[in-house]
Amino acid sequence: MKKDTKIIRSGRHPFAHSGMVNTPIYRSSTILFPSQEAYHDAENGRVYYETDNFTSSPDYSYGTSGTPTSFALRQALADLDGVKHALIYPSGLAAICLTLNALLQSGDHILITDSIYGPTRRFCKQELKRFGVETTYYDPMIGQGIKDLIQPNTKIIFTEAPGSLTFEVQDIPAITKVAKAHEIITLMDNSWATPLFFNPFEHGIDIAIQAGTKYINGHSDVLMGVVTCNDEFLFGKLISTYRHYGACPSPDDCYLAARGLRTLSVRLKQHEQNALALAKWLQSQKQVTKILHPAFEDCAGHDIWKRDFKGSTGLFSIVLDRHYNESEVSAFINGLEYFGIGASWGGYESLLIHITPSYVRSATKWSEPNTVLRLYVGLEDVEDLKADLEKAFKRIAK
Ligand SMILES: *Cc1c(COP(=O)(O)O)cnc(C)c1O
Repeated sequence: MKKDTKIIRSGRHPFAHSGMVNTPIYRSSTILFPSQEAYHDAENGRVYYETDNFTSSPDYSYGTSGTPTSFALRQALADLDGVKHALIYPSGLAAICLTLNALLQSGDHILITDSIYGPTRRFCKQELKRFGVETTYYDPMIGQGIKDLIQPNTKIIFTEAPGSLTFEVQDIPAITKVAKAHEIITLMDNSWATPLFFNPFEHGIDIAIQAGTKYINGHSDVLMGVVTCNDEFLFGKLISTYRHYGACPSPDDCYLAARGLRTLSVRLKQHEQNALALAKWLQSQKQVTKILHPAFEDCAGHDIWKRDFKGSTGLFSIVLDRHYNESEVSAFINGLEYFGIGASWGGYESLLIHITPSYVRSATKWSEPNTVLRLYVGLEDVEDLKADLEKAFKRIAK
């Protein structure tokens, strides 16, 4: 089955649900059993979970371990990455933190790209440190040079490509090759590309993470995290921690995310096309000096993107021709009609924020003195978006 067909078919069993096209919302805390023996078996099943041998066959024992609504979504997400297992969490950040929590212990060391999603860095700096785990950040363009940073206690290499805010594309195959030789687990935050434009597992990654909040759901109304993997041992660890924390999303959110997922492919292609068109136009504007978009040559790792990725999506940044002061930045942003001002992305609507990459760097230096804006290009008509930005550039023109 091709990917576009998989997105439509996976995790749907209409005739198990009276012919309903979408798996209905099953709400339950308590799940009843027909007999003492059946309940007892399910209880044993729960003990079994805590070993490393859990398989993801549906086990309806209590609401936190899932309902047909959540199992359907997990199945679809695992299929999309072409792996056996998927877990879903109440947010992307929860998925990241609980994955790290599941795999690390006091005395361990983790290597993280300097271009990592900001709140992941905050978690490592404060929570992991509190638990006695040491973090080292690496240059996203390090490639196989990562081998020089490995310590005897290095457990995880955490990648994200392209990087948050600045979009450096990492050489994932080079990094996973080194990691494998040293028996280090590799993680990738794949929220930007989704499994449609980059399959982490085909490039050697052990565990992939996505903010389901973004493209999977795609409508700015659900928070969700997704973790996928193929390895039974790692999955055993992930699900064990998942259950210790009771970190389940609501059935309503699972339903919405599954509904959003069905149109992921068409939405993503349109985001790609709109973002490319807008970025090309921006490139020709005199107040723009750099396009930090993996499909453009200004972007670090552009050649790696061409080699490894199947497409680009709606999020990128631009560098302006000088440093604009606060009131100029406000004049630019406050007058925008179609670009919303807000965190997150992945919905159908465009967004624009002012960013300061130097605040979230430690291994590398962000030496760009000029103003940087991050754009998220939604599904509006690109001509309207251009006109909106054209007016904004006029507002800050000298
Ligand atoms: C938004 C985001 C997350 C976190 O997702 P939430 O659901 O908002 O917690 C993680 N990684 C990346 C790259 C993101 O952009």
